[in-house]
Amino acid sequence: MIGGIWDLLVSRHPVVTAYVFVLGACIGSFANACAYRIPREIGLSDERSFCPLCGARIRWSHNIPICSWLWLRGRCADCGGRISVLYPIVELLGGVLFAALYARHGLPLASAYWVLTGMLLIGMRTDIEWQIIPDRVTLGGFAAGVAFSAVLPGLHGADDALAGVKAAVIGGAVCAASLYLVAWLGTRMLKKEAMGLGDVKLMLCFGAFLGWQGGVFSAMAGSVLGAVLGVGCLWVSGRKWGTFMAIPFGPPLMLGAWIWMLGGREGWNAYLSDAEALSFLLAP
Ligand SMILES: [Zn+2]
Repeated sequence: MIGGIWDLLVSRHPVVTAYVFVLGACIGSFANACAYRIPREIGLSDERSFCPLCGARIRWSHNIPICSWLWLRGRCADCGGRISVLYPIVELLGGVLFAALYARHGLPLASAYWVLTGMLLIGMRTDIEWQIIPDRVTLGGFAAGVAFSAVLPGLHGADDALAGVKAAVIGGAVCAASLYLVAWLGTRMLKKEAMGLGDVKLMLCFGAFLGWQGGVFSAMAGSVLGAVLGVGCLWVSGRKWGTFMAIPFGPPLMLGAWIWMLGGREGWNAYLSDAEALSFLLAP
């Protein structure tokens, strides 16, 4: 019986994938609550869900991820105040990413990426709204990454727990140190703070889950995406160029990490082996 359930769970059957989508949307909903409560220092178990505007308890039928926001047209059922569009976006992102990670990696590997994704969704929202990524996300993520690397050394292509933990710790250290160096150089050149320490701690978490190559890839892809998104935001909002540096760097870094998890790794390896294959052209 239990074997049968496990076989179904690892089968990547479309019905299971649909369930995983619902699970991801619920985790997105939980991430929304965490992102609201952590910066305000409200305990996660203190109270049931409430409206951020009027404080009214939210009925279960109005607390269904994605659907409720659409059904209520983005307004609170009690006070009629506008509920941020970030709520359904984070829920939808949770559902899509959970399902895609499951379809790509299957269990048990996807479970590690789900945990990382849940934490990143919290950090993404707090970075957009408060320009902070809580330590519980970044340092907590590093601890979770090291723990997962011991249980699932395959995350780093390693065979045993010790090699997995080693890859996670080295990955975190290399990624955080490299971004710290970039931030330090940027601060000296621009004569103002170029990057938050939260982003450096975020790289610690990336390195632990994705290895040093995944972390470096996320930083490079994130820089390109951040520049494109930044120019896009300035163009849409019509603000001055001087405000460019105020755009949070966390969300594009996270997009870079998701690209790595969903196929960037294979693309990167193919690129490296191509580069190796063509390197004879550069030889004298
Ligand atoms: Zn309300």
